[in-house]
Amino acid sequence: MQNDLMRNIPKVDALCALPCFDDVPAAALTESVRAVLSGLRDELQSGAVTEIPGVDELSERVLRAVEQNAIPSLRPVINATGVVLHTNLGRACLSDAAAKAAASVAASYSTLEYDAERGERGSRYSHVERLICRLTGAESAIAVNNNAAAVLLILSAMTKGKEVVISRGELVEIGGSFRVPEVMEQGGCILREVGATNKTHLADYENAINDATGALLKVHTSNYRIVGFSESVPLSELVELGRRHRLPVIEDLGSGALLPLERFGITGEPCVQGSVAAGADVICFSGDKLLGGPQAGIIIGKKKHIETLKKHPLMRAFRIDKLTLAALEATLRAYLDERGAVSELPVLRMLAATADELREKAKKLIKLLAELPREDAKTELIPSEGQVGGGSVPHQALPSWAVAIEPLKISVDELETRLRLGNPAVIGRINRGLLLLDARTLFERDFPVIARAVVDAIGGETL
Ligand SMILES: *Cc1c(COP(=O)(O)O)cnc(C)c1O
Repeated sequence: MQNDLMRNIPKVDALCALPCFDDVPAAALTESVRAVLSGLRDELQSGAVTEIPGVDELSERVLRAVEQNAIPSLRPVINATGVVLHTNLGRACLSDAAAKAAASVAASYSTLEYDAERGERGSRYSHVERLICRLTGAESAIAVNNNAAAVLLILSAMTKGKEVVISRGELVEIGGSFRVPEVMEQGGCILREVGATNKTHLADYENAINDATGALLKVHTSNYRIVGFSESVPLSELVELGRRHRLPVIEDLGSGALLPLERFGITGEPCVQGSVAAGADVICFSGDKLLGGPQAGIIIGKKKHIETLKKHPLMRAFRIDKLTLAALEATLRAYLDERGAVSELPVLRMLAATADELREKAKKLIKLLAELPREDAKTELIPSEGQVGGGSVPHQALPSWAVAIEPLKISVDELETRLRLGNPAVIGRINRGLLLLDARTLFERDFPVIARAVVDAIGGETL
């Protein structure tokens, strides 16, 4: 009986030849037909289905599969979590100018390594160096693939075979795979940890210095804070100590804010300019955290050290790509005018938004949900808490407002799943039986799409 059924499953070629598939590219069609038929075979075998669906039903399944397969794996989603630098959702959103700059360079030849004025070979690093120096006050600068690469490059080029002194309170792990002790090992230097987890004094560093010492390292504890009975040595004092012993002082700043964030009510995140002014020899930070640009690692500092880095063989392995460079240059340009930066760069704009502004923003979204039938869902505005994210500022919540949805005919988990599986996916947060859409990380241009997605998800079929 089952064998008979199996034999009656339509052949791949026969299905592919149906006129309704005339417009579907052959390769995509064959793949989808195979997938649908194999799914059908499984259903028959397991007994979940006891007869073969008609040709109309099968061709509909094939067309749905073709559509699904055409959706890119890496695609935009709507971040309704309220976490601004959401690591899993791609950290910083680029400004329009940065996205445009990357796109224009992507589809064209460019001045990547060409000096158009002189008509000769140029350097890819020249496009952002002067801008970074101007904005940070540093002597020299270079950009690489990401901040992890920056740290590894610095340690490899400047401290190989030497001891590097670091506080026990700063042996940071970022997102699982970046751990300061392991990066130091890869960089070929010897970790010389000093002090205690909660307290490290200047004397601890000084006592550890010997003939084998290559540098003093300070790492910003981006994603945790040691509070209570704690003490760390300010960068300026480490610099003083380094001077006395003719040792370079290196700082991994992590996020790398170019504007003081106190104005947004965010405290404890150091500014890049402060570290330059304190006199660190080499400083590195991310491009796609608080800076609000593309994934990159920015290294600034004394010219002699940056020159050493430029010549290191790892530089080629870590080099920054042209699309990134274009986006980075545009992002940095926005900072030339401070107010412009806050209005132009999505990360800063999201961080700057006050709770009152977010309440007004959420109100606009909830208005678009008015067409939801009352018996299907309840919606209300509620205060919410977001985060900076991206392993930055772990101890502070960002007060915000959210559209809260309580589905009445399906479970809140089902609603969350439907929104997540939609195209575009809407990623919200469940709290006490409500699905929250936090206004902080939403773009108003997406509101009609979000409203449509919610209405469809609530009125849709059970998955
Ligand atoms: C985030 C971070 C890194 C890694 O930076 P990526 O740009 O993600 O490679 C390194 N060090 C610190 C302190 C960080 O916060």
